[in-house]
Amino acid sequence: MSVISDVVVPARAPYSAFLKAGQVMRIIDLESQQAVDALFYSAADFSERYSAQDTLAAAAASGGKYYLGVGSVLLSNEGRPMVTVVGDTCGFHDTNAGACSCESNTVRFGHETRFMHACRENFLVELGKYGLGKRDLVSNVNFFMNVPIRPNGELTVDDGVSEPGGYVELRAEMDVLVLISNCPQVNNPCNGFNPTPIQIIISGK
Ligand SMILES: [Zn+2]
Repeated sequence: MSVISDVVVPARAPYSAFLKAGQVMRIIDLESQQAVDALFYSAADFSERYSAQDTLAAAAASGGKYYLGVGSVLLSNEGRPMVTVVGDTCGFHDTNAGACSCESNTVRFGHETRFMHACRENFLVELGKYGLGKRDLVSNVNFFMNVPIRPNGELTVDDGVSEPGGYVELRAEMDVLVLISNCPQVNNPCNGFNPTPIQIIISGK
């Protein structure tokens, strides 16, 4: 396989790219503890998109883990494989906690956070490039985000555990559009209170 694209995504910024089936995307957490929010759409039909519900239900049915990791197959709302996790140095990738938004920030952290940049805004900016919008925002993946379930059932965002240079690799199982928000959150520890750049390398034929 040869390198098709190799970019650094600045802290807080959005990114998107098409992957052809068989191509591999490596997302590198350059400085550690950086949450990377991601959405996936079928390149052939954007109405087919990532489904956290189908992905987790299938993982549970096959005895899989709550966290995404090597071997996890990310399914669409049509139940079809979109990408498979084929490499991972971290072990904690969440798909339950959703993306941060200005609205949720005000509820969680106070009204003064209303105008802080958030993943939902990154996604909307990137979706607009493809003629998509709010109705196309669905539950996402949070790579490198550590969201354990407490014994009382609560989800909590804990300190990230990814190391500098840690990465996750995704192999496309269909032609897909990948949307990414390099999470700008500074009100909880998902980015170590310090958003940092990531690197994205696409390889294939
Ligand atoms: Zn975020």
